Amino acid sequence: MSENTVRDAGFDEWLDAASEGEAYYLECPEGHGSLPPRRVCPDCGSTDLEEVGLPERGEIETFTVTHIPTPAFEEDAPYATAIANFGPVRITGQVVGVDVDAVENGLEVELEVTVSETTGERVLGFSPV
Ligand SMILES: [Zn+2]
Repeated sequence: MSENTVRDAGFDEWLDAASEGEAYYLECPEGHGSLPPRRVCPDCGSTDLEEVGLPERGEIETFTVTHIPTPAFEEDAPYATAIANFGPVRITGQVVGVDVDAVENGLEVELEVTVSETTGERVLGFSPV
């Protein structure tokens, strides 16, 4: 990781933390959860956001399987994109480490920062527990 790279502070930083197993979410005094980059709570507008450790496991709520991807994800197809419920927050990511046929609602997953086989860019992934 280069210190010289100008980074999009916020989400990139969050991906760094997540890849080190230190993912977090932002919580306002009302207990609403959201993900960076955020300066205000999307639910109540509070600016008093605190970083709280993300629960280790989430559960897939819904997913879609892509067989014919956009060119940016060509080499990754077929793949499943899911929304997983981590309690205070819902996170969208690509399901990794499992055959797409094995992906189902209710599947328990852990957050895993992965790299797109096509673009080499980091993407948020879910790895079944
Ligand atoms: Zn709030």
